[in-house]
Amino acid sequence: MIIDNILKLFRIEVSVRQYIVKASQVGKQENEQKKDNEAGKQPSVDFIRTIVAEDNRTKKWDCEVITRFPPEPNGFLHIGHAKSFCLNFGIAAENEGGRCHLRFDDTNPVMEEARYVESIQEDVRWMGWDWEEHLYYASDYFDQMHDYAVQLINKGLAYVCDLNAEETREYRGTLTEPGKDSPHRNRSIDENRDLFKRMKEGEFKEGSRVLRAKIDMSSPNLNMRDPVMYRILHAEHHRTGSTWHTYPTYDWAHGLEDSIEGVTHSICTLEFENHRPLYDWYLDKLEVHHPQQIEFARLELTYTVMSKRKLLQLVEEKHVNGWDDPRLPTISGMRRRGYSPESIREFCRRIGINKFNSTIDIALLEHCVREDLNKTSNRVMAVLRPLKVIIDNYPEEQEEWMDAVNNPEDPEAGTRKVPFSKIFYIEQDDFMEDPPKKFFRLAPDREVRLRYAYFITCTDVVKDDNGQIIELRCSYDPATRGGNSPDGRKVKSTIHWVSASHALHAEIRLYDHLFTKEQPQDTADGEDFKSSLNPESLTTLSDCMIEPSVKDANPLDRLQFERLGYFCLDKDTTKNEIVFNRTVTLRDTWAKIQKKGQTAQIRKLNI
Ligand code: ATP
Ligand code: MG
Repeated sequence: MIIDNILKLFRIEVSVRQYIVKASQVGKQENEQKKDNEAGKQPSVDFIRTIVAEDNRTKKWDCEVITRFPPEPNGFLHIGHAKSFCLNFGIAAENEGGRCHLRFDDTNPVMEEARYVESIQEDVRWMGWDWEEHLYYASDYFDQMHDYAVQLINKGLAYVCDLNAEETREYRGTLTEPGKDSPHRNRSIDENRDLFKRMKEGEFKEGSRVLRAKIDMSSPNLNMRDPVMYRILHAEHHRTGSTWHTYPTYDWAHGLEDSIEGVTHSICTLEFENHRPLYDWYLDKLEVHHPQQIEFARLELTYTVMSKRKLLQLVEEKHVNGWDDPRLPTISGMRRRGYSPESIREFCRRIGINKFNSTIDIALLEHCVREDLNKTSNRVMAVLRPLKVIIDNYPEEQEEWMDAVNNPEDPEAGTRKVPFSKIFYIEQDDFMEDPPKKFFRLAPDREVRLRYAYFITCTDVVKDDNGQIIELRCSYDPATRGGNSPDGRKVKSTIHWVSASHALHAEIRLYDHLFTKEQPQDTADGEDFKSSLNPESLTTLSDCMIEPSVKDANPLDRLQFERLGYFCLDKDTTKNEIVFNRTVTLRDTWAKIQKKGQTAQIRKLNI
């Protein structure tokens, strides 16, 4: 027995060492591949797609490819989930006759709610994926799972255990110490069947008994030390009501769900690698359809958190305004902020699929968003922090409608007319009374071009009693209409503007990272991840001016405000108030990072 245990510990030690060596080799190759992917090159086929292709070649599953995306309805989906469902739905779509199920893993009634079920469907659909008729709920299999549990009891492979939580932990042992058999491990099959039946019927208190698999209390893998299959919960389930008093654990339920649905490739994240022997054990012992579990690295992003528990905390404690707050990495937050499904999918394609945990720079996501919005969003002019300008030599009542290009990247987007008049607004930042050498925008006695309009020269600066600039007086050159001077005169800058009498007034919300730390979850002892929340993650500007063509925009419409960034009409918009979110600025930090060749440095490895 002692020698047995020593040998087992030795095996743990060797397998951990092998894992570290393997991980660092895999890591090197993956780093190379990721560099290419992130640079936008066509990625090489990832290891999961390679497995699927090989299975098709060998007809392992009769050329069927059935995957699934199995969220637990205990929160909204985030971009980490997007990585997972783009992989699962993507693989299904790439293989003829393939399909991907959307399955709600609703085995824990305490945290789950119907509204999460709805939001998850909305988000997956918005991202462009379709499960057709394959929408499933783990709770629909509760009867079947229960039958399977009785089968294991009948085979002498499961038993009812009365140890309390603390005793169970004690008996379990540790990584370096084997566990001890529960005193209830050798109950008769009849007694187990009877107790399990009574557990199901609600006869016992919560926490008083569990059903456990009878595997091996001294296994080097802690997950194999007689894991719990059912616990007693007298909780109302959002679909099955109060029918059940026992609920299956994740490990017991998950493989059964896959098996019942005939899944071929059960793709999950790396933390389940150690659970795979258990997944296999259950399905082998039950002698049922046995999908292959394959693990990949979960997505982590800088300056944000991705755990649903943490996101829920941010929402419940009102650090953000709901699950769809545009600062959150939730799909609904990103949608509201103006990210397009195409850009999120492109991001997921670029980061690729690998077996090595790492944190991706959020600048890459923003880069993908910019790339897509640059191609697809129409340009308009808006002024965030207005400074009034009056052109003294422009006729009082005159207005002119200037031709403006909607999207230089897309000739089909056409042109529009933008009104110009004597009084308009420019950005406060576009004027300096005493400009430094490299400031080429408007300044006293300097001439600049107004986008699509005229050359103007600043002739006077009007201030209030506190010395604040409140207005500029300018002159314009009527010969420069459209933006060029017939005498060939050059100006060094072009600025945007919005005619005062035609302007739509709007509230504009500017966003910054939600956290000031790159990895907010890395906290010192006793410190909370919320201690690095960024107090300036939201800036609200309430007196912004936008050109009138925007009046018919609908919530979620995406526009580029020239020189300022990409913006998206918010659902808070009413008849009387227009609200825009800034999706992302025009400045591309990712492009800069790449130019400097810093990609390797900013990617922090987690192990
Ligand atoms: P959390 O632990 O934060 O609650 P979860 O992983 O338990 O998240 P699920 O609803 O169970 O959330 O996730 C559904 C699927 O999405 C699972 O297959 C899971 O592996 C995958 N997934 C969740 N988070 C990520 C992530 N950050 N990167 C990639 N896949 C993820
Ligand atoms: Mg989970």
